[in-house]
Amino acid sequence: MMPQDRVYEITPKVLPADSDATITVRPVQAHAAFEAGASYCVEYYAMEGGQKSAHDIWEVSPRSDGCLVLRRHLEGEQEHRFVLVREAGGKRPFRMVVHVYSLHEDLFRRRPYLGDLHMHTQYSDGRESPAYVAARCREIGMDFMAITDHGQYAPSIEAQEAFAGIPLELLILRGEEVHPPGNPVHLVNFGGAFSVNALFEDKEQYAAAVEQYERDLGSLVPGCDGRRYAETLFCLDKIREGGGLAIYCHPYWVAGQAYYVSEAFNTQMMNAQPYDALELIGGYGLDEPESNLLQVARYHEERAGGKRIPIVGVTDSHGTDTGRLFGWYWTLVLAPELSQEALISGIKDRCSVAVETLPGERALMYGPFRLSKYAYFLWREVLPLKRRLCEEEGRLMQAHIAGHDVRDRLSECYGRVRRLVDRMWATG
Ligand SMILES: [Zn+2]
Ligand SMILES: [Zn+2]
Repeated sequence: MMPQDRVYEITPKVLPADSDATITVRPVQAHAAFEAGASYCVEYYAMEGGQKSAHDIWEVSPRSDGCLVLRRHLEGEQEHRFVLVREAGGKRPFRMVVHVYSLHEDLFRRRPYLGDLHMHTQYSDGRESPAYVAARCREIGMDFMAITDHGQYAPSIEAQEAFAGIPLELLILRGEEVHPPGNPVHLVNFGGAFSVNALFEDKEQYAAAVEQYERDLGSLVPGCDGRRYAETLFCLDKIREGGGLAIYCHPYWVAGQAYYVSEAFNTQMMNAQPYDALELIGGYGLDEPESNLLQVARYHEERAGGKRIPIVGVTDSHGTDTGRLFGWYWTLVLAPELSQEALISGIKDRCSVAVETLPGERALMYGPFRLSKYAYFLWREVLPLKRRLCEEEGRLMQAHIAGHDVRDRLSECYGRVRRLVDRMWATG
């Protein structure tokens, strides 16, 4: 979090491009008050405009309500910085930098939502209950999440039901990791209305459906197993049929002594793109860095070849208190609202970035250039403010599942994050 955000409220921080902006800096702590009647020097920088010129420097005095107001035409889509300085005559030297971002209409109307689309619980090989994982997700600042246990859909429903009737701004979606029998490929059904794993129970029906897919296959990459690929297509289509996002998981996972799917299969998946989203950044430990590195390299190579690839970043966490994976990888989706449909469309429309925040390291963004640049601003300037509010909600959610009556306190929290984000955005 930027230090000035603890003692000043800067609104708005996200504004329309090519507009006349009015940015208000309001002290929220008495010790941070601007000096009445004093004049503060403002130096303005457009990040993409090179060095400042003379007309980018002016003086401003606090308004009668104690706020400093900055006015400026914001050109194009970029970050803008206002350096406020009080030197001679002041009680003490003062300097702070106000950061804002101007956006073209297509991004301006979207809001940032953080989430994890791939996590496990005690019902497969994880550690904790689905409700606890959901609460922990809120505690660390997520807006949406889904439990995706191996071969099991019910745990994701359990996470939803644990908070039924409780007003929450965390969107808990259904999900499962889909494992077609005898097929090494892993897929995530994110948000689908029914279990795809359950369809494998009727062996005859499943075999007949796959045979149909296999008959309809065109030419495949040499070495790609047609039956395995047909099974994969069946699952991906069924995920979509339920309204879910069909995710191709961890393509360069090293299982044992080899990648878990063949390079021919991977290339077939990359060429045909039968999935909705690629797990660009997946849940690998610090001792297995090459998998994410290869996924990112492959993504860039495919993009350079003209492919448009929707992406997600996930933890594949198997426990939120293990000290590994949970909270290390994120998907930041830019969507008009927080709903399953809006999130899935946002990802499919390539309005998402994969974020990596390894412990003690700087945040890294993966995705299209335009989004990565903007996402970094959000990570620095907006999302930490949200996270402060989410922490309390996450702890209250944990109290709720431990049997305490915190419904009223959660009701009081409801809407706070949305109102914060509303203040951060210009009214247009
Ligand atoms: Zn997996
Ligand atoms: Zn998994």
